[in-house]
Amino acid sequence: MDFVRGRVLRPGDEGFDTVHRPWNLVGQDVTAVVEAADIDDVAALVRHANENGLQIATQAGGHGASGNAGGAVLLRLDRLNEVRIDPVAATARAGAGVRWGAVQEAAAAHGLTGLAGSSPIVSATGYTLGGGLSWFGRAFGWAADSVTAFEVVTADGERSRVTDGDLFWALRGGGGDYAIVTAIEFGLHPAPELYGGRMIWPLSKARQIFLTYAEITAAAPEALTLWLGVLNFPGMDPLVTVDVTYLGPAASAVELLRPFENPVSDSRRVLTPAELGQITADPVDPSAAASRSLLLNGLDDVEEALLGQPLEPVFGVQLRHLGGALAGPSATPFGPLTEPYYVYALGAPGKATYAGLDELTARLGKSVSHRKPYFALSPSDTVADAFDPGTLDRLRAVKRRHDPRNVLRANYPVV
Ligand SMILES: Cc1cc2nc3c(=O)[nH]c(=O)nc-3n(C[C@H](O)[C@H](O)[C@H](O)COP(=O)(O)OP(=O)(O)OC[C@H]3O[C@@H](n4cnc5c(N)ncnc54)[C@H](O)[C@@H]3O)c2cc1C
Repeated sequence: MDFVRGRVLRPGDEGFDTVHRPWNLVGQDVTAVVEAADIDDVAALVRHANENGLQIATQAGGHGASGNAGGAVLLRLDRLNEVRIDPVAATARAGAGVRWGAVQEAAAAHGLTGLAGSSPIVSATGYTLGGGLSWFGRAFGWAADSVTAFEVVTADGERSRVTDGDLFWALRGGGGDYAIVTAIEFGLHPAPELYGGRMIWPLSKARQIFLTYAEITAAAPEALTLWLGVLNFPGMDPLVTVDVTYLGPAASAVELLRPFENPVSDSRRVLTPAELGQITADPVDPSAAASRSLLLNGLDDVEEALLGQPLEPVFGVQLRHLGGALAGPSATPFGPLTEPYYVYALGAPGKATYAGLDELTARLGKSVSHRKPYFALSPSDTVADAFDPGTLDRLRAVKRRHDPRNVLRANYPVV
């Protein structure tokens, strides 16, 4: 692949082990890694793949790696790392290698925010292709609904700017199976005042905190978002946490959150949108975890499921409050996120953890929705867990139309 100006590494080459490793430590038996120097490299690689019957798996940091890249060429786009903000139009253009932290840093300078989630090192592109569940989703909806354009290299190696039509629809939350995205453009949102942080209590207070959480989230304004956590990490005292953001004045947030009494630790303060990642301080180093994501139709069985018995061997559960604009109109393949809560549970990979996750799911009982968002699929899931049959047929038709030779391989492919 000497036609590529970026680095090409094959198994056995020095540095290959580090470069091919995804953040989510699943096995990834790829034939080579290409670090594209620019968009011409991407186009040249796609033409080469077409001529030689190869497949390309595009990956930003691999937070969503599923182990499905085996046998493919792994394409990394970290060098497409330019961020541009138009403060007047309140829009951003981010190269496909740009992480959310960089977008937020640039947007915050103008009192604006993108629809970032918990981790600042997840790529804005990879995240948005999965729909994108933001801290500010309750106020502004799915991140993918804010996208105005994708710059892509199509599966036949041509450059294109996509602003409507079936490809635009599929890329706004249907994954990366249809084209290689080289940059995204999206609307930013006003965040002149932002307040947030984490409150912590010992697990003995969990029931009281859960009831307060249920009460406040039932009537919360869209500017307020609360995530409840139960943390049971080995070697640590078990804790209950409430992570919060409020898009508005600190005094209003303090008033809304007054029922949460006497935390033993409290990091709440006025924040800038660039500091969003500090709230949960998600792990930065590559990790191996067994996880389960579930949407919930309500909180009926949730208190008992989370607090009625020890979570072990599951060591962390996060309960995110949804609703607001997330449940409103959406042009994404997933559509309106009408379920009011989302649960993410994790533990160390292994049989016991998978059994623990199954048991937790069973305890959540009839509260569990029949579907999961695409961004939250895990290796034991398929796209049929995210999309209804009609949507899946439509996504497959887009795939067949735009990548008939199946040159592109997403983490969770639609065919
Ligand atoms: C700690 C942690 C916190 C998270 N928090 C949130 C959250 O708050 N909200 C939320 O919505 N999600 C969240 N996620 C999920 C995250 O959005 C997904 O893992 C997503 O895949 C982005 O990760 P990434 O940028 O590393 O992409 P990767 O894992 O590198 O890519 C995932 C897939 O996206 C596609 N893709 C990526 N880039 C391109 C491209 N340029 N062109 C075409 N296809 C491409 C490919 O199919 C690829 O397999 C979180 C994940 C982790 C591990």
